[in-house]
Amino acid sequence: MSKTRNAETVKVVVRCRPMNEKERAAKYERVVSVDVKLGQIIVKNPRDVANHDVPKIFTFDSVYDWNSKQIDLYDETFRPLVDSVLLGFNGTIFAYGQTGTGKTYTMEGVRNDPERRGVIPNSFEHIFTQISRTQNQQYLVRASYLEIYQEEIRDLLSKDQSRRLELRERTDVGVYVKDLLSFVTKSVKELEHVMNVGNQNRSVGATNMNEHSSRSHAIFVITVECSEVGLDGESHIRMGKLNLVDLAGSERQAKTGAQGERLKEATKINLSLSALGNVISALVDGRSSHIPYRDSKLTRLLQDSLGGNARTVMVANIGPASYNVEETLTTLRYANRAK
Ligand code: ADP
Ligand code: MG
Repeated sequence: MSKTRNAETVKVVVRCRPMNEKERAAKYERVVSVDVKLGQIIVKNPRDVANHDVPKIFTFDSVYDWNSKQIDLYDETFRPLVDSVLLGFNGTIFAYGQTGTGKTYTMEGVRNDPERRGVIPNSFEHIFTQISRTQNQQYLVRASYLEIYQEEIRDLLSKDQSRRLELRERTDVGVYVKDLLSFVTKSVKELEHVMNVGNQNRSVGATNMNEHSSRSHAIFVITVECSEVGLDGESHIRMGKLNLVDLAGSERQAKTGAQGERLKEATKINLSLSALGNVISALVDGRSSHIPYRDSKLTRLLQDSLGGNARTVMVANIGPASYNVEETLTTLRYANRAK
């Protein structure tokens, strides 16, 4: 019973990327199959000799294979959530998975290619198209962009990238990031500009961008405020917030031998991801009276957009090749628990 209770508000989908050039050249075996109709991911584990190679089957709300199109994911999985934000609800979209499995491809995609644009640019288009079709409402769209790295918050739109921001709480507004910049945007172009500025800042100060992005959570926030004159002649305001989150890589960071800074960092990255897993699983379960939002910066920050009237979509990204099978299974178990 409890499993269906939040089916509308928390959705977990899995996406498997194609084999890449290197994997094809090395002739790695494909161990993942995707049954789109049944919503199943089937993993063959060649190393699991004890189980005589019995494949493992996981079932999700939707699954997407290597041929899946960005626009299909958008229309089937993300569009309803963004629509609810336009109606004044909060929503969060997460990309989860091991580094190299397609989180950034799913969130941002290839910016200059309309076919390969990810959910972030597609949502820009969606929001402003919708706004242009309305007549009796006034909209105000604002954007912020931040990053959580080792449990520290950085404003990706700020001129001062060395500054760290604090989380605060107020009874009237709830949890918020003190001094986080937010820019009013009047078009898709302006939203894109904000995203580009943030992305540039994100790479500033990172000696190795890949490594940095695999260890930090990037959160693009769009707030949509709508005012409308009601039947009573009074003006009513409703506000929805859309959080678009490219999570840190889920691979085990603390390989044996990690010490000092490296180990501390690993612990902090896993803290936010495991806290998120706990929050989502408590929400889905529906029986827990306590949702452990306070356990990490990420979950505290997103508290008002996870649970309650808010909608959540988690996209768990996986790779198809045999050498990743352990990480793939770990991701599927995490996603399964969140389901
Ligand atoms: P992550 O952000 O999880 O580290 P990326 O999004 O950077 O992974 O993806 C790694 C590589 O795989 C990129 O070159 C990306 O373009 C490619 N890729 C990922 N998912 C897909 C997909 N569904 N279709 C085509 N290429 C993909
Ligand atoms: Mg990435």
